[in-house]
Amino acid sequence: MTFDPEECTDWEDVCKLGEEMEGSLAVFCVATYGEGDPTDNAQELYDWLKNGDVDLSSLNYTVFALGNKTYEHYNAMGRFVDQRLEELGATRVFQRGEGDDDANIEEDFVTWSEALWPAVCQRFGVDSALDTSNVREYAITVHSDLSPERVFTGEPLRLGSFANQKPPFNSKNPFLAPIRVIRELHKGGERSCMHVELDIAGSRLNYVAGDHLALFPSNDPRLVDRVGELLGVDLDTVFSLTSTDEAATKKTPFPCPTTYRTALSYYVDITSPPRTNVLKELAEYATDPKDKEFLLKITSSSDDGKHQYREWVLEDRRTLVAVLEDLPSSQTSSGPPGGAPASTPGQILLHLLLTQDEPDVSPRHAVLIDYTTRTGRRNMGVATGWLKRHQQKVQNGEVVLAPISIRHSSLRLPYHSSKPVIMVGPGTGLAPFRGFIQDRAAAKQSGKELGETVLFFGCRHRAEDYIYEEELEGYRDNGVLSGLQVAFSRDQADKVYVQHLLRESGAAVWELLEKQGYFYICGDARHMARDVMGALLELIQDNGHMDSQAASEYVKKLQKRNRFLQDVWS
Ligand code: NAP
Repeated sequence: MTFDPEECTDWEDVCKLGEEMEGSLAVFCVATYGEGDPTDNAQELYDWLKNGDVDLSSLNYTVFALGNKTYEHYNAMGRFVDQRLEELGATRVFQRGEGDDDANIEEDFVTWSEALWPAVCQRFGVDSALDTSNVREYAITVHSDLSPERVFTGEPLRLGSFANQKPPFNSKNPFLAPIRVIRELHKGGERSCMHVELDIAGSRLNYVAGDHLALFPSNDPRLVDRVGELLGVDLDTVFSLTSTDEAATKKTPFPCPTTYRTALSYYVDITSPPRTNVLKELAEYATDPKDKEFLLKITSSSDDGKHQYREWVLEDRRTLVAVLEDLPSSQTSSGPPGGAPASTPGQILLHLLLTQDEPDVSPRHAVLIDYTTRTGRRNMGVATGWLKRHQQKVQNGEVVLAPISIRHSSLRLPYHSSKPVIMVGPGTGLAPFRGFIQDRAAAKQSGKELGETVLFFGCRHRAEDYIYEEELEGYRDNGVLSGLQVAFSRDQADKVYVQHLLRESGAAVWELLEKQGYFYICGDARHMARDVMGALLELIQDNGHMDSQAASEYVKKLQKRNRFLQDVWS
């Protein structure tokens, strides 16, 4: 049985499952968030393992860790769970797998799980030839007589929560915030960066500068219609899914009863490239043997198959719609050839609904994703598309409500405004610092002493993507910003980046650090944050007259005292 860690009310009970069920195995799939943290739904598991002192000697387990190598604390949570279970006496039945979302996490998982199965069978004396590939986790019921008020229309948890808003608001109960402003910040160039203002008055939500705002977007209705059309499904069919495993804690993968239209719009991801299990399912229904062979090939674990999946699906960024369009024989089949139990296109769709991941409905920042693929298709991220679809309406004065929640961050201003702060945030990394600067401006206005406030910002061209130029320069002119350093990377022959300016100001930055200053980095994890860290270590070495070891210790100490904080992503 599978369940979301959030649904577990007693971890001790679960981890002692081996006492009641001989030959049981627990597989922990755990992701790492931000700076080596657990995800929200695994926070309790983390706390329990960290503080617990139970005897888990009856537990057989293995771990698959999900992370991203561009982050410093790669797979820290998965490694922690693995190590802690062992310390508490549990038996690791199979070595930990690690997935890297910066490369191909799907491939990492398939490779790991393919080795896991024979190892587990051998250990527990199970026949590894048993075919489990067609086991359906959920059964479907189509309803013809439900009144509309009993049907979910996109609410994440409580039926009617959109129509009848009740606090407290959180990721399971988003607040419908009126959008006051959506406007473009770039003054030129092809890229886009949007400024969005939401009204949270009356919501009792507590937003502090540095926090993340999660937007719960829905998929483009045109894309939803297209999926329905390609699969020949009536999108307004009302249905429910129920787990075929009676003991499962998760009875439905998403709120039911609902319609295919709602499920495709709110509950499943139809904009990302489909996983191999979805394509394997499609292969069953393809009527053209060539399409079928191709789908089976790219979903196989052979090197050639993996290579073709990477090329044709990932690198060409084919979504489910693109796959169906490019392999037309998989579109309208009324069932698998060969007289297998009648499967309608609706059932194919159903399986796709189940096996696709939920959309990433809580982007950490308003990252705009909008590009043309190698096959000439325009792909847009779910949130990007949602914002773009609503921009005109907001500008026309229409009321547009955005379902939102707030995720608190560890990126915080010092409690005393008299402490110096150094903020490094090129590109979209500026977002939290704009809030910091506004807070410092308010502190100054109310007569509080203001420590030095220095911002290092970077963009490509002064005339294109120097976002909030007037506002930032205004803060510099009125003394809220004691330093504003902007690196325009493409306004001259040689690149100038924030770390170059940081190094040039090494002595002044060092002085602020020694005056109990706080150092912040926000933005791109892959290159920028690493390079800025390198420059910081260098300036500490030079100005503090230390060797590299001592400089690293110095930063570690800052980190421990929450005076070195970063929020980076890739
Ligand atoms: P951006 O506009 O791409 O870059 C801001 C400035 O940083 C540019 O002047 C850029 O210069 C410069 N830069 C490039 N490499 C640097 C380095 N190693 N050190 C310091 N500065 C450097 O910024 P952005 O829109 O914030 O995006 C930054 C990156 O993060 C992109 O690759 C983007 O794909 C990724 N990103 C991902 C997410 C996500 O959540 N997945 C969100 C935001 C951004 P040049 O371009 O001239 O080299």
